[in-house]
Amino acid sequence: MSRGVVPRQPARTGRQDKVRVARVSLPAKSSGRPTKGRDVPAGKKPAPKMGVENRQGGVAAAPKGYNPVAPERVAEILDRLNQLYPAVTCALTHKSAWELLVATILSAQSTDVNVNRVTPELFRKYPTVEAFAALTPEQLEPDVRSTGFFRNKSKSVVGAAKRIVSDFGGQVPDEMDQLLTLPGVARKTANVVLGSWFRKAEGVVVDTHVHRISRRLELTTQNDPQKIEQDLMKVIPRERWILFSHQIIWHGRKLCMARKPKCAECALENLCHAGDKTWSTVEMHKGAE
Ligand code: SF4
Repeated sequence: MSRGVVPRQPARTGRQDKVRVARVSLPAKSSGRPTKGRDVPAGKKPAPKMGVENRQGGVAAAPKGYNPVAPERVAEILDRLNQLYPAVTCALTHKSAWELLVATILSAQSTDVNVNRVTPELFRKYPTVEAFAALTPEQLEPDVRSTGFFRNKSKSVVGAAKRIVSDFGGQVPDEMDQLLTLPGVARKTANVVLGSWFRKAEGVVVDTHVHRISRRLELTTQNDPQKIEQDLMKVIPRERWILFSHQIIWHGRKLCMARKPKCAECALENLCHAGDKTWSTVEMHKGAE
């Protein structure tokens, strides 16, 4: 067992006896593959109820001496993510740095699927940065309306296009400090463009999935995206910053949803002490959700 992984212990209340079936059937170390249907005996559902019962009686403070960011534990998490999602990339459809920048701005408070529905026609209609720079935000609004917050997004996209044309010769800059001068671009968007297009690891993308799952996995206790990013940059090796974000984003879509995460199918399950798990073979920790 990796250092930093809490040995299975009964809850003080004894109510955790009800998770005994799962404890016996789950291996101490996962194969790294989703365990759908494998570890739950016939006739026993993964039981979202167990999570609820643990929340009532089995969620405890992390034991003294437990270090959730111990290098061995973090390495084990990264290994399992590699096995689960070996070659994931950015889900936003794009063919250039500019298209990725626009798609990322449009993805705020929206889904990638929704953005991918809008952008092909958008880039057909306005094929260059210069074409966007010639618009007013009001002209762009109807084209991006379905992504939500369309007035602000139109302002950001048109403003970024104008700045790129006037200050950067029509090329999306590949430096963090320059990207941050563009309207509507904060560190998350800049990290997406730098990592996914320019292959530069200047930071870790912290979107809603990375925010939630990093807390569940106790890689951070922060709530502010910039502080979360700083924590992740300290505990994750730099060469993994880009892939880690992609993997966690996919994990958040497939298994570790905000509501009712599919913990019984999760290859990280016995490393995860999140207080809002729906099923658990290990003690759940207060504050890890
Ligand atoms: S909360 Fe559940 S689905 Fe999410 S990482 Fe933990 S065990 Fe996996």
